[in-house]
Amino acid sequence: MNVAILGAGESGIGATLLAVKNKHRVFVSEYGIIKDSYRQELVDNKIDFEESGHSFERLVQADIIIKSPGIPEKAAIIQYLRKADKRIISEIEYASGYCNGQILAITGSNGKTTTSSLLYHILDTAGVDAQLAGNIGNSMARQLATRDSAYWVLELSSFQLDDIHQLQPHVAVLLNITPDHLDRYEYDFNKYAAAKMRICKNQLERDFLVYNSEDVSILAAMQDLKIKSQRRLIAPTTLKNKVQSTDDTLSFEMNLKGKHNVFNAACAVEVARIVGIDEPTIAKALSSFQSIEHRLEIVASVDGVTYINDSKATNVDSVFYALDAMEAPTVWIAGGTDKGNDYEVIRHLVDQHVKAIVCLGVDNEKLITAFSTSHKTYATQDIEDAIRQAAEWTSTGDVVLLSPACASFDLFKNYEDRGHQFKNAVWKLIK
Ligand code: ADP
Repeated sequence: MNVAILGAGESGIGATLLAVKNKHRVFVSEYGIIKDSYRQELVDNKIDFEESGHSFERLVQADIIIKSPGIPEKAAIIQYLRKADKRIISEIEYASGYCNGQILAITGSNGKTTTSSLLYHILDTAGVDAQLAGNIGNSMARQLATRDSAYWVLELSSFQLDDIHQLQPHVAVLLNITPDHLDRYEYDFNKYAAAKMRICKNQLERDFLVYNSEDVSILAAMQDLKIKSQRRLIAPTTLKNKVQSTDDTLSFEMNLKGKHNVFNAACAVEVARIVGIDEPTIAKALSSFQSIEHRLEIVASVDGVTYINDSKATNVDSVFYALDAMEAPTVWIAGGTDKGNDYEVIRHLVDQHVKAIVCLGVDNEKLITAFSTSHKTYATQDIEDAIRQAAEWTSTGDVVLLSPACASFDLFKNYEDRGHQFKNAVWKLIK
């Protein structure tokens, strides 16, 4: 079989390695420049490839096209291949066709990484043979090229779900659907929601759908679908402040802060129960799980002040949960590239928890306008200066929270870079 791979990022290279293992003939095509480490893998494996553009005539010859989730539907090459009626699938779809393990798939607008990592940690603690893949770490295809496992925990974005056709998770989790990435869905929220719902489209009666039963967008999207799988409802407002044992007599301890994480954990625990993990093991796993980098990550305590890195909070919804989780007076560091934020949604939480605001972005106007009448504000474009000012406004027992509500691209490479620079600046305070 002739396989064409569009996009030479992690999913494309992973798909390449799996296609080579499957003895398929492979051609890789990248519109931009291929990262050095990935190019080296192509060279090492003697793969035919091109970069800085796509050869339409050559690509259309392939029997099957595996497309990176980053390539939008409106890209010229996709439109061309669609017109030629070519079969276009995602790397996840391709890989799942060659895996015998059960798929436990998680999607949602917020909380995917936390929930999938926690579920994987529970399975790992229980000694279950599982691998974690999807929108996190190494691609599924890359890992599968090395080995299959009894379970695959897959974090799936809407982009990854767009091009699945046969993927059939034994358990699918739908955390929430809030507006995000609408530019890829013709600014139509229903289209974005429909992409998320694809996670359960191939499920059968023996499969399970765990979902947020209070999320109106999920409920609305479910109405139009024939869902065959068994439903397991998780209602966030009925959860206590810790996840409970099945008989409700025991509360499981965990290191994650915030109500949203109780919900994420309740979803992961529900999947673990479906898989057959016992309660003591679940309890042990929850208490040993450490917070994930850049997500309400406690960095250090300096002069009695706790510094928290929540750089992944790139929208107002995630800041809502971050502020809600604060138990001490907080200096909030926010700002960056605005995504059309409406700060009114969090005003009551800012009033309740925040003593001062440091605005860290190229354009801080919107944040300052929103909060300068109620709060002390300070604008800067330098992270060390931001932390210096935040430290000056704190006293023992307070918190400094970086939870930007904005994308990072104005001052940083990405949210990871912003989080790392924040942590480095905090560690400098200790020295
Ligand atoms: P994702 O992988 O979907 O982007 P993460 O687990 O990386 O989600 O969390 C991203 C941000 O979203 C975090 O900063 C966190 O504060 C917030 N968040 C996590 N879980 C939820 C949830 N269930 N509902 C709303 N916000 C959440």
